[in-house]
Amino acid sequence: MTRRRWIADTWTDTTATLTGDQAAHLARVLRAEAGQVYDVVSNGFLHRAEITRVTAGAGDQDYEVLFTLHEELESDAALPLHLLLAVFKFDHMEWAIEKATELGIAKITPILARRTEKHLAQSALKRSERWRRIALEASKQSRRTDIPDIADPIPLKQALEQEHSLIRILLSETEQSLTLASALDNSNPSANDWKTCRVPHPSQPYRDEWEEQSSITSITHAIAIGPEGGWTPEEMSLFTQHQWQPVTLGPRILRAETAAIAAIAIASTHLH
Ligand code: SAM
Repeated sequence: MTRRRWIADTWTDTTATLTGDQAAHLARVLRAEAGQVYDVVSNGFLHRAEITRVTAGAGDQDYEVLFTLHEELESDAALPLHLLLAVFKFDHMEWAIEKATELGIAKITPILARRTEKHLAQSALKRSERWRRIALEASKQSRRTDIPDIADPIPLKQALEQEHSLIRILLSETEQSLTLASALDNSNPSANDWKTCRVPHPSQPYRDEWEEQSSITSITHAIAIGPEGGWTPEEMSLFTQHQWQPVTLGPRILRAETAAIAAIAIASTHLH
């Protein structure tokens, strides 16, 4: 039986609590009461859980539903993938965030690129909360056990300086030959034979760095997608300085959101 799944707002080792809109929906629309059993994601882990208390409130934000956590259930991890997504038209951006979440992305950082339209760049800073809500809803809808991290928008230079994924891939409509699929094949970190593995730096230090990095964060790959106007030559050289690998998705120029979804779908067949 497929149970409805909730993502806890707060938790302890043995309990999980829904508050705000989620609690109001469960309490009012689904008539929650003590004893009902649901699946609840608490602190990133999926549990069977039983409602122990429903507290009604004056407004939606005052509802609270308390669960007792039972056994932990098996669940899939997010793709170990960070998407650096240059900010573009907000309705398209929201669509991309929703679909990327459904496909299992671990993190999205909106990038303020040179060719991001001025008014979008200015308003982007106020959009983060809305983008996080979209990711939360898409996580619930797609039955994820975690919510992707939607970072605040930052300039490209800052994003490249703070990127720690060892496989860094730049989607570029000017790259002619190396495809995303080949780049991912060449850099497969799970390949045991590092002597024949065609990663950009197949050396022992690289492998050590990889193993150290993997133990710190589960995100191993980053993919960057440009704005509607594309990256400027200065931005392209920043990527080169930071050792990002340009790849193509084929001969057609895709809209940024199409490129994002195609890239995650291709990456998902190579990662895990
Ligand atoms: N400035 C470009 C032009 O008009 O020719 C279009 C940029 S495209 C709409 C937005 C982003 O999608 C690009 O910066 C790139 O990251 C990605 N993209 C689009 N088509 C691509 C392709 N065929 N291969 C790789 N990336 C692509």
